[in-house]
Amino acid sequence: MTGSDHALVLFSGGQDSTTCLAWALARYPHVETIGFAYGQRHAIELSCREPIRQALACDGLGEDHMVDLAATLGGLGQTAMTSDIAIAMTSEGLPNTFVPGRNLLFLTCAAALAWRRGLRRIVLGVCETDYSGYPDCRDDTIKAMQLALNLGMQRRFVLETPLMWRDKAATWELAASLGGDRLVDTVRRLSHSCYLGDRTHEHDWGFGCGTCPACALRAGGWNKWRSGR
Ligand code: ZN
Repeated sequence: MTGSDHALVLFSGGQDSTTCLAWALARYPHVETIGFAYGQRHAIELSCREPIRQALACDGLGEDHMVDLAATLGGLGQTAMTSDIAIAMTSEGLPNTFVPGRNLLFLTCAAALAWRRGLRRIVLGVCETDYSGYPDCRDDTIKAMQLALNLGMQRRFVLETPLMWRDKAATWELAASLGGDRLVDTVRRLSHSCYLGDRTHEHDWGFGCGTCPACALRAGGWNKWRSGR
């Protein structure tokens, strides 16, 4: 049995997936979460997941599932996301934080879990607007994955990407429209974006080093959103 309005949110503990979780909870009566350990250097984001789940707790929030892919993705090769090397662009024009196959693998694992749990909707916070150069965040990639997963698992999963066409300022605005200042404050204080795992320096927009690409994106979106209010 598949709950057509039951959802599984790919939930890392970051700003985008936290906003997606709130979005799903506002829409669907039953929402579960899945998180992945893959040897990310900012594994601290995983420790942000439970406090965020507690802050968003409601009748519709179901089980949390953690999947360990560290040996799989970590063993396949070094990137700046999983190793302590400097963040830079590669000669192919991709950031060296790109983990090849990561979102494809995440979606395959999420769909396998959703299949077993009878969850039809799979929600993830990928975004093409603030395009970080990750080809697996593109709308076409996600649509192709939906087709492949549905064919390969003989289901009718719906892959939902509420942030696909929103920039980071619009993502803050979405949080405000879903849960007002309280949700914005939860995202700001509890979610984690910084690639370097910095949770000691607090800014208007939350914790982080303030200089890595993830902090720059988050801070830029916050400032744009605040100045437009
Ligand atoms: Zn940072």
